[in-house]
Amino acid sequence: MFVSESMYELGSKRSAIRELFEYGKMRAAVVGPENVYDFSLGNPTVPAPECVNETIRELTQKLDSISLHGYTSAQGDLETRKAISDYLNNTYETHFNPDNFYMTMGAAASLSIAFKALTTCSEDEIIAVAPFFPEYRVFVEAAGAKFGVVAPDTEHFQIDFGQLENMLNKNTKAVIINSPNNPSGAVYSEQTIIKLSELLKKKSEEFGTHIFIITDEPYREIVYDGVTVPYVTKYYDDTIVCYSYSKSLSLPGERIGFILVPDEAYESKKLYAAVCGAGRALGYVCAPSLFQKVIAKCVGQTGDVNLYKKNRDLLYDGLTELGYECFKPDGAFYMFVKALEPDAEKFCEKAKEEDLLLVSATDFGCPGYVRISYCVDEDMIKRSFKAFKALKEKY
Ligand code: PLP
Repeated sequence: MFVSESMYELGSKRSAIRELFEYGKMRAAVVGPENVYDFSLGNPTVPAPECVNETIRELTQKLDSISLHGYTSAQGDLETRKAISDYLNNTYETHFNPDNFYMTMGAAASLSIAFKALTTCSEDEIIAVAPFFPEYRVFVEAAGAKFGVVAPDTEHFQIDFGQLENMLNKNTKAVIINSPNNPSGAVYSEQTIIKLSELLKKKSEEFGTHIFIITDEPYREIVYDGVTVPYVTKYYDDTIVCYSYSKSLSLPGERIGFILVPDEAYESKKLYAAVCGAGRALGYVCAPSLFQKVIAKCVGQTGDVNLYKKNRDLLYDGLTELGYECFKPDGAFYMFVKALEPDAEKFCEKAKEEDLLLVSATDFGCPGYVRISYCVDEDMIKRSFKAFKALKEKY
C-alpha cells in the first residue's frame, strides 16, 4: 500500500457514534425531526456564557490584526497562562505558576501530546480505566505505546484496584483517569484518588520507575448536587492534567485547552520540555490566538450547568420508572444504562427500530451497557419516553 495502512484504516472507518448521528439525520428527513430521539453525540447544548461573545466583540474592536490573529508563543500567551494559574490557585489552593502550563487545541491535543512526551519505546504501556473515551486507544497507539485496559467496576464505576494492581508493571508509564467520566457520568471520590495515589506510589517504588497519572478533565465543572472533583495534583506528584474548555465553556469547535505539568512531577522541567517538543513534533505550532485571549477573560465561568442537571433528573426518573437499570451520574452529561440483553449492539439495533439512537458501550470497554448523551433538548427527552416504553416491551 502506498499510504500508511494503519492511518488508512483509521480514516476510512467512521466512528460508530458519527455513523449513528448521520443515520439520525437521514431518518429525520423521512419521519420528521420530532420523531427521532438522537442521544448519540456529546455536543454541548447549553450556550457559551455571555462573557465569551462579549470578549470576542471587545477584542475585535480593540486589537489590531496581528495582536488578534498572529502566532502566539508555542506554550501560549503569558497573560492566558497567568490567568489560568491564578484561577486554579484561588479555587483549589494550589501553587502553580504560568510556566507549568502549555496551551493546546483542546483535550484531544493535550492527551496526544502527553502520551507522546512520555513514550520512550514500543514496550511502554499506558493504561485506561474502563469505561473510557475510545479515542484514548487511537492517541496512545499513535504515540507508539501499548494500550492497556482495566475492566470496569460496574457497581460504582470507580476503579477496580485489584485488577489495576495486577496490570501494573515496569513498562507502565501512565494511568489515564477521566472524572467526571465519559461515558458513565461517575465522579471519582477523594477516597478513590487517595487509593490510586497510594497504589501508584507503592508500585513506582517497587519497580524503580515513575508511573504518571494523566487526568483528562474536560467535564471538571459539570457536576451536580454539590459533588466535588478532587484536584489530583494535590494527592499525587507525578500527575499531568489535560484540560479543555470544550464542555465547560461550550466551545468544542474552537479547540482550546491546556496541559499542566506541576513542579512536583518527577524531572518536571524535562517533562515540560518534552511536552513542548511533542507539541512541536505533532505540528500544533500554537493554540488558537483569539480563544487564548477569550480564556484569559472568561476563565472560571461555565455555561448553565443547571440545564444539564434538569435533563439528568428528567431522564433518570423517567427511565427508572419504566424499569431500566440506570447509573445515576454525578457529572458530565451522559447516562449509563444496562442493555436489556447481553449484546448491547443488538439492543441498540432494536432501539433504532423506535428511532431511538443510543450508543453501545462496547467501544468504551464496557459491554452490556449503552450511553445516553443528554446534552439535548428537554422536549426531546419528554417525547422519547414513549419510544423507551416500546423498546422495553420488546423484552
Ligand atoms: N476526553 C473526553 C473524556 C471527552 O469526552 C472528549 C470529548 O468529548 C475529549 C477528551 C476531547 O475533547 P476536546 O474537544 O477538548 O478535544
